[in-house]
Amino acid sequence: MQRYRVLQDSLLCIEDSVLKTLKKRCQNSQMNERGGILLGKVTEDYSQFTITEVSEPSVEDSSGPLYFHRNQARAQKIINQRWKESDGEINYLGEWHTHPQINPIPSGIDYLLAWESVYKNVTEIDTIFMIIVGMTGNLYIGYQNRGMKKLERINIIPLR
Ligand SMILES: [Zn+2]
Repeated sequence: MQRYRVLQDSLLCIEDSVLKTLKKRCQNSQMNERGGILLGKVTEDYSQFTITEVSEPSVEDSSGPLYFHRNQARAQKIINQRWKESDGEINYLGEWHTHPQINPIPSGIDYLLAWESVYKNVTEIDTIFMIIVGMTGNLYIGYQNRGMKKLERINIIPLR
């Protein structure tokens, strides 16, 4: 399990199995972008978020070398199903996708999606994490909640 500091008093934890899955999805230049959703747990006081699973890309998503658009109906079905199966413990925590970059950074569309997700969609937690996976497995991890103007990079130096 990797732990990262999000804001002064909250932590993001990512289970090893999730990191392994994401790194397996590294993009090479021949491939289209791929992605899915992040699912996991949040403590009642919002001091700790734990990403426990990710959805895999599907044929219902549309993607090209420089864009990825996931199928919303399929994602919503997964969110509802996991929420039910876990008695409300597993929630939607955000989005992941690949970029054809060594050191991935969000595009303008990524910033817009994060902003819309926090301010326009009614999500359970008013918070979104966005993980972008680069071609060699480097990760960008961003975070936005209500009160933040834009997605901000999380310090990804693991805590001891
Ligand atoms: Zn992107």
